[in-house]
Amino acid sequence: MTNFSRILIANRGEIACRIAATAKRMGIYSVAVFSDADRHARHVQMADEARYIGPARAADSYLRADHLIRAAQESGAQAIHPGYGFLSENADFAQRCADAGIVFIGPPIGAIRAMGSKAESKTLMARAGVPLVPGWHGSDTDDAALAIHAAAIGYPVLIKASAGGGGRGMRVVQQACDLAEQLTAARRESLAAFGDSRLLLEKYLDAPRHIEVQIFADHHGNTLSLFERDCSIQRRHQKIIEEAPAPGITAALRAKLTEAAILAARTVSYVGAGTVEFIMQDGIFYFMEMNTRLQVEHPVTEMITGLDLVELQFRVAAGEKLPFTQADLRIDGHAIEARLCAEDPARDFMPSIGRIRHLREPANTATLRIDSGITEGAAITPFYDPLLAKIIVHGTDRLDALRQLHIALNDYEIGGIATNLGLLRGIVSHADFAAERFDTGFIPRHWADILPPAAAPSDAVLAAAALAAVADTAPCDPSPWAVGDGFRIQGAAPRLVTLGAGDAFFEIAITGTPTQAIVRIDDREFSGYLTQTASAASLYTDTAIHHFTVRVDAPVIMVIDHGVAYEFRVIDPMASLAVDQTAGSHLKAPIPARITALRVSPGDVVAKGQILLVLEAMKMEIPLTAPRDGTIAEILRGAGDMVAEGEELVTLAAEA
Ligand code: ADP
Ligand code: ADP
Ligand code: MG
Repeated sequence: MTNFSRILIANRGEIACRIAATAKRMGIYSVAVFSDADRHARHVQMADEARYIGPARAADSYLRADHLIRAAQESGAQAIHPGYGFLSENADFAQRCADAGIVFIGPPIGAIRAMGSKAESKTLMARAGVPLVPGWHGSDTDDAALAIHAAAIGYPVLIKASAGGGGRGMRVVQQACDLAEQLTAARRESLAAFGDSRLLLEKYLDAPRHIEVQIFADHHGNTLSLFERDCSIQRRHQKIIEEAPAPGITAALRAKLTEAAILAARTVSYVGAGTVEFIMQDGIFYFMEMNTRLQVEHPVTEMITGLDLVELQFRVAAGEKLPFTQADLRIDGHAIEARLCAEDPARDFMPSIGRIRHLREPANTATLRIDSGITEGAAITPFYDPLLAKIIVHGTDRLDALRQLHIALNDYEIGGIATNLGLLRGIVSHADFAAERFDTGFIPRHWADILPPAAAPSDAVLAAAALAAVADTAPCDPSPWAVGDGFRIQGAAPRLVTLGAGDAFFEIAITGTPTQAIVRIDDREFSGYLTQTASAASLYTDTAIHHFTVRVDAPVIMVIDHGVAYEFRVIDPMASLAVDQTAGSHLKAPIPARITALRVSPGDVVAKGQILLVLEAMKMEIPLTAPRDGTIAEILRGAGDMVAEGEELVTLAAEA
């Protein structure tokens, strides 16, 4: 049987890269697609060819079936791999592929439709005898009927959007009197997010685990289980750490899970890769939903089975038989995956955007695999999913895997945007996670332990950043903050470097040369010099040698101290915008901006050149400095205020 010779990957990010890698290994020509936001993205570089499909918004590009099919036709692709998310579970898209004579690499359209609605799939599963969470998924969904069903189920109940996915559209209702209000909100939310307001109810389990079974079926009647995964470590009902096999699952329980999952798949005549998700509490498991696609966390299954699921998808879609039987499959060791996301756990997991200023991913080995969709310098835009990369390890047993994940997470360096890397490290280091004591409530329960407050930079980190800033001030450096009062090679005058990090400011005085300097931070003084290569920097002080990664990307300096990235903005008082600094007493905002820091108070005596306040506009720091020696008479606006161009901010007292 000959496989495809050309495929189109209708996705982006790490999964598009991962699919392209298998295509390349199999000698299949791959065609990537990209939006305006992804012209320079990693997935575009990985494929043999790339085609433009529209503007940045997913609705205008990655979700445009017509653009994707046209790109496939124009490039001569015989098949489309949809990845996950986007159109991967869209039956209409699968139908349009079929109409165009292109193979949709996924299950039959009937199976997508049958499992597409959580409510309808439950009706089917109940009939087939697959165990369900106690709940209600019938057709009478007005408030009065649902109130009766909720009372029968028993509070707390969980409202789910029948068309929901990606952890969205779920609401827990603790007591009957809150139900009506929550139903109204859930309907509104679901309609907005999924274009469908149908809801269902489930008994809300208080400490469950998410256990899912990877299914693979071919067109020749074979439906196999590739064992289970545990995906209980979640935030916002979305997985961030997954493992296989699931800890503590006995052979007997595994056999029952397998049986239920295969029954679910057979009930909808499933073909290809699919996942049957169960929720389990007190050793009893219930069907939640089936995802009719490749799952984000499929690599842990690949690690323990030695299989390439994307290769199997290609083979099955081309009509081949699965090359093994259930009896051939064995669980080899243990695998864990951590999802690195562009989001800030400390700000309620708010997605972060920006540019990846520094990236150093550990190299793949036989037991470590990084599935990444990013490159250094890439922009993280607000248009797509926050998933950046996955760190996957394979161990001889769970503790071995955990040890390796720990090392890999510590070796992973990323700077420029907020990520959940610190949280992942915190989870992996937690004793309860190591001891297999966890359920879906793990993250909120251990929040204080797994997300320690951001550490203040050490003196060594500050010294390294300041020395790098000074070293970078070459005479011909065109950056605005370099045009300072030049570094005096032998001079005794200290050079003051002001570093901003968030709302904090640090002032570091350096005397001497960058390679032989005295560093003063507050009242602490030590000798320090920095040696730098492209990849590493060492700071030599009186008492120690510290190894860092230092990146200068003016006006930002990044110091990575064993995986923890500190980002500083170098604030050069002499580089402030061309306000008329000699204008005397009335200091005005040079452009519309936000005041990020107020450094003085009325009555303060200030020296010429001293920073009075810092403005921020277009992600740039603009210090406003004293035009002359004097005393602050009045401060007209406060930190956090938005100010208009030309607005007066500070008044100096008239000269005596
Ligand atoms: P998995 O079970 O494979 O982890 P997820 O539920 O986390 O899958 O979703 C896989 C991907 O698809 C994620 O990128 C997620 O954000 C996205 N996704 C899933 N369902 C939807 C949906 N209905 N709308 C938008 N994005 C979705
Ligand atoms: P999605 O389509 O968004 O993936 P799921 O139905 O698969 O939605 O549920 C996602 C997550 O929500 C589960 O992994 C689990 O953590 C939580 N969850 C779902 N159903 C229940 C329930 N009945 N009780 C408690 N938690 C649940
Ligand atoms: Mg799910």
